Amino acid sequence: MAPPYLCQVSMQVSCGACCGLYNISNLAPERLEALLTERTEAFARIPRVAEAIEDFGRQQLGWTPEERPFPHFHHCPYVGLIGRQRSRVGCLLHPDQVGNQGRDWRELSYYGAKACRTYFCPTTHELAAVHQEILRQGIDHWYIYGLAITEHRLWAAFFHALEGRLGRPVIPADFSDRSGVRVGLMAFAALKLDWPFRQDRAPGPSHFFFDDERYTRPDVERADPSIPVSPYEVIFRELESHFKRADDQQQAEALVEGCIENLVAILRG
Ligand code: SF4
Ligand code: SF4
Repeated sequence: MAPPYLCQVSMQVSCGACCGLYNISNLAPERLEALLTERTEAFARIPRVAEAIEDFGRQQLGWTPEERPFPHFHHCPYVGLIGRQRSRVGCLLHPDQVGNQGRDWRELSYYGAKACRTYFCPTTHELAAVHQEILRQGIDHWYIYGLAITEHRLWAAFFHALEGRLGRPVIPADFSDRSGVRVGLMAFAALKLDWPFRQDRAPGPSHFFFDDERYTRPDVERADPSIPVSPYEVIFRELESHFKRADDQQQAEALVEGCIENLVAILRG
């Protein structure tokens, strides 16, 4: 199966993670959506000339780099809401956006037009194409989609556990028409949003996924060295977990197993 296109999926589902969408200090979904709405409306009012667009970008970047979860990573001031109903994230400088009249303004971005056009994140080549397609079909909103789709190690470990329990590989058709199975997939994705065992110093649900040395993911922390390594160690590492007691880890395992068992029951039903 050829790798699917992950960046724009549907009217509600798209990703702007590599534009630094989530690299802001308060990542609550309603706050992020309000910021993007305001930005998109403001951008619609400015003339499409380089000076005005650059001024707009400078005004949008009103916070200091230190306030970002990853100070050495960008947050592009031109990521906004796109589509007729502004129902998904995308690039305000893209030639297809209303008002740009076919002109590609991405040359004014921090990384430059070539990078914006050609960059593809590690998930696009590290996660199996079939699992990429399942996530495209199974996640129904841009906010959680962009946070989730960039987590290729988390999903590889999850699908490995799911397929082991199911006794066969999953295929996109398993997830295409069945709302229950999609809800089950979303339940696992949602663990990342509000993981109760996240390390105190972890930056919340946002993460740095470029696989370079700038921000590496820490190992699972265990306050008590007698707590054993878990069968879900990779999942717990990718969720940036800290366990104070063995009980905590057992609860965490139960959360993951609950998601997997629920999906297995639906897929076998
Ligand atoms: S992070 Fe990956 S999926 Fe998201 S927009 Fe960038 S290349 Fe596309
Ligand atoms: S200019 Fe580039 S980095 Fe900024 S939103 Fe557009 S594609 Fe993303």
